[in-house]
Amino acid sequence: MNNITLAPVQTDQPSHLMPVFSRQPISFVRGRGSYLYTEDGTEYLDALTGIAVCGLGHAHPVLAEVIAEQAATLIHTSNIYEVPWQTAAAQKLAEVSGMEEIFFSNSGAESNEGAIKIARKFGHLQGIANPKIVVADHSFHGRTLATLSATGNKKVQEGFAPLVDGFIRVPFGDVEAIEEAAINHPDIVAILVEPIQGEGGVNTAPQGFSYLEDIRAICNQHNWLMMLDEVQTGNGRTGQYFAYQHTNIVPDVLTTAKGLGNGFPIGAVMTQGRGVGVLTAGNHGSTYSGTHLGSRIVYTVIDLIQKENIMSNVNEIGTYLVDQFRIQLAAQNVIVRGFGMMIGIELPKDCGELVNIARDEHHLIINVTSGNVVRLLPALNMNRQQADDLLQRLVPAIQKFLG
Ligand SMILES: *Cc1c(COP(=O)(O)O)cnc(C)c1O
Repeated sequence: MNNITLAPVQTDQPSHLMPVFSRQPISFVRGRGSYLYTEDGTEYLDALTGIAVCGLGHAHPVLAEVIAEQAATLIHTSNIYEVPWQTAAAQKLAEVSGMEEIFFSNSGAESNEGAIKIARKFGHLQGIANPKIVVADHSFHGRTLATLSATGNKKVQEGFAPLVDGFIRVPFGDVEAIEEAAINHPDIVAILVEPIQGEGGVNTAPQGFSYLEDIRAICNQHNWLMMLDEVQTGNGRTGQYFAYQHTNIVPDVLTTAKGLGNGFPIGAVMTQGRGVGVLTAGNHGSTYSGTHLGSRIVYTVIDLIQKENIMSNVNEIGTYLVDQFRIQLAAQNVIVRGFGMMIGIELPKDCGELVNIARDEHHLIINVTSGNVVRLLPALNMNRQQADDLLQRLVPAIQKFLG
């Protein structure tokens, strides 16, 4: 280890942190690519990358250099002035997404707040006084009041009533339920879904991505905005830059964050088609929207994903991992779902304990979501040798756990 400045924590004092996170009893002081290190130098294979955030791995040398250079040059001037890096980042993001207008936010929830505001304004422009948005069961859209209201998880909402009004919930994948909602609620203006539900257990709709095509058709028929939450699935995670690019459709509104800044907190809400021109001067904003530093990071992350052929690696290694998990866990009663480097292994019983077993006995960082789904979100540039390392650590842990 070289030149690590350790945090001057006063261990005899309370932490003073609001206890909203249930933290695991471990901390890392350094990272490199797909590996994390504790203070004593112990190496852990990171198959979670900060929940689909550090797609290019930890401490990417090019990114680290760009961040240092920009930080030593200019971090922030506000949007009172032109921000050339913001424009360059928007141009790059438009190129890879096919979207037209981009607003940079600071998180996934904020990106979805932007989408919800666009939907409401879109409704009001048509004289709809109480515009409604269709959302799905088991969805996750964030922790702000509007986004937790849109979220399909009671635990996220508990204690925060009154919730934000104007959401109509349907089962994920149920096209008929959307058509029925259209009949019962003439004031629907939009639908917001994740192409693959991340927190919900790494699920596409039962019919796969054709669900997105059906939603696109319904939105066209009723003049609704099709809004996709790609906070987790975006930025190359599933083997396309955005998951909808596995289909031929394009949403009207697209949100992302997580992998967009490789750890720097930045998100985006984007529009094309009937989403364009809805928000105008004075409608939206944020002090930190697209700072020089954040924007340059976005630009560099996309540039690296393109130049380092990340997407072909995601497809190759993602497919390899899914195939190997299916083969090596064939005797176990598990279901393996994989979309590039977004992989879920559904176990026949709750398996939260596997997180601790993997960490303590195999020095492997994983996540369990939805009770019984092992969720893997490895670095997009994980190589074959590291993928084998992941298999060697996780397969025996699952085999032993399932007895
Ligand atoms: C993580 C996530 C969010 C929330 O993003 P934050 O940056 O934590 O606000 C929203 N939607 C989806 C699909 C996510 O995975």
